[in-house]
Amino acid sequence: MQCTEAGKALIKFNHCKKYIYSFSVPQCCPLCQQVIGSRKLEEAPISISNPFTNGHQEKCSFLLRPTQGTFLREYDGRSDLHVGITNTNGVVYNYTTHGVRRDEAGWEESVSIPLLQPGMYGLMDQWDKYLEDFSSTGAWLPQRYEEDRHNCYSYTLTFINCILTTEGKEQLGKEEFTEKYVVPRTRKASKYITLYRAIEEHGFYVTDHPDEETSPPEGSGSC
Ligand SMILES: [Zn+2]
Repeated sequence: MQCTEAGKALIKFNHCKKYIYSFSVPQCCPLCQQVIGSRKLEEAPISISNPFTNGHQEKCSFLLRPTQGTFLREYDGRSDLHVGITNTNGVVYNYTTHGVRRDEAGWEESVSIPLLQPGMYGLMDQWDKYLEDFSSTGAWLPQRYEEDRHNCYSYTLTFINCILTTEGKEQLGKEEFTEKYVVPRTRKASKYITLYRAIEEHGFYVTDHPDEETSPPEGSGSC
C-alpha cells in the first residue's frame, strides 16, 4: 500500500518575522525573495509532526478516520468519523451496519490513540482473544446497529471500558472520552490539514509570531 501522501513532511521556518510553513526550505524566502541562509539559529527549520499514522501498524490502539475519503483530501472538520480498534497484528475491528468488520486495509491514514500503557504485557497477550470474544457477542450483530445510539463509537467505547475494568480503572463516559482523547487529536489533525492544503495550493503558508511585538526590530528590515 502506497502512503507517500501521509508521509510528506511539513517544516516551519522563521523569516520576515513570520512563521513560514512549507514542504521543504526554499532557496529564497517567498515573502522577501532574499536567499535563505542558515546563519541564525532561530531561522533553522523545525519539522512539524504528522498527526496521521498507518493504523495497520499500530497495536492495541483506538483509530479514527473519516467515514468517507481521507483526512488530507476530504475531511472538513465536521465530516463523520469512523472508529475502530486494532488487534496486535494491525487488523482493525470496527462496527458497521454489516456487523463487526475486521479490516486488513483501509486505515492507512488514521489518527491513532494507544490503549495500553507500556509494560502491560499480560493484557497484550490476551488482547486478541478479548477483542475477538467481545466482537462475537450478540450486542454487535448487524441488526442491532443504530446510527445514532449503537454504532462504531458505542462498540469501541464499550470495549475500552472492558479493558479499563480489567485494569482495575474507572470507566469512561462517552463525553469524557471524546473530550480527553478524541478532540485534542482531531484539533491537531485539523490544523495540520489546513497547513497541508494551503502549502499544496500556494507552496507555503504564513502565520504571525505569537510574540511579534516583543521581538526587537531587525537591522535589515527589508521585509
Ligand atoms: Zn523574508
